[in-house]
Amino acid sequence: MTLPCRWTTSFGQSSARSAPTGDKRGRSVVRPVDDGLAAIGIDHASVNDVIISHMHYDHCGNHHLFPNATFHLQDAEMEFATGRCMCHHAMSHPFEVEDVTTMVRRVYNGKVCFHDPESEIAPGITLHKVGGHGGLQVVRVETDNGAVGIASDAAHFYANMERQKPFPVFDRLSDVILGVERMKRLASSPAHIVPGHDPLVLKRFARSHQNVEDIVALAHPLG
Ligand SMILES: [Zn+2]
Ligand SMILES: [Zn+2]
Repeated sequence: MTLPCRWTTSFGQSSARSAPTGDKRGRSVVRPVDDGLAAIGIDHASVNDVIISHMHYDHCGNHHLFPNATFHLQDAEMEFATGRCMCHHAMSHPFEVEDVTTMVRRVYNGKVCFHDPESEIAPGITLHKVGGHGGLQVVRVETDNGAVGIASDAAHFYANMERQKPFPVFDRLSDVILGVERMKRLASSPAHIVPGHDPLVLKRFARSHQNVEDIVALAHPLG
């Protein structure tokens, strides 16, 4: 069942890891989320909707930047991140317990919209559960240049798709492999798929602003 959403026109990017969490795990944040949004003219506090692909620490931090937003999440991801699998370090390690508990508080504050397995949350923007990596969801966005697929960890790198070698963080390999197939059906072409962790994205999409080097327009694949 999909709960009703209070959708408005502002659209925020995935909130990614916070700097303190990154420091703790030996990862540096090179572009803080609020800086990136400001560089393209978006005030983080004005964002009304945030799509959370899944709750691994590198995709679910910075809650404090979006005090007014509704977060969109799959039922399966909340179940995974708060259920019995988290009793095992191998599966709980990529999660940050503070991020998960903050999400639980958001639920109680009426600021989470759950989805299962597919929803259209605004005209042309749809969410699709692919699983395999907890309750991971991907996003399809219709643009003037075709349908773009935001893969998040359904494909960490282009190589995971192009060489058919899944990234070795998953809980169900078959769902990962089928998830890549799903992405290929959802997007207008392989060039329209955006892997979650590949720096090559900065070369395969056009810059969104000429004077900003590290932000690209996902509606403008170069391939
Ligand atoms: Zn992940
Ligand atoms: Zn990730």
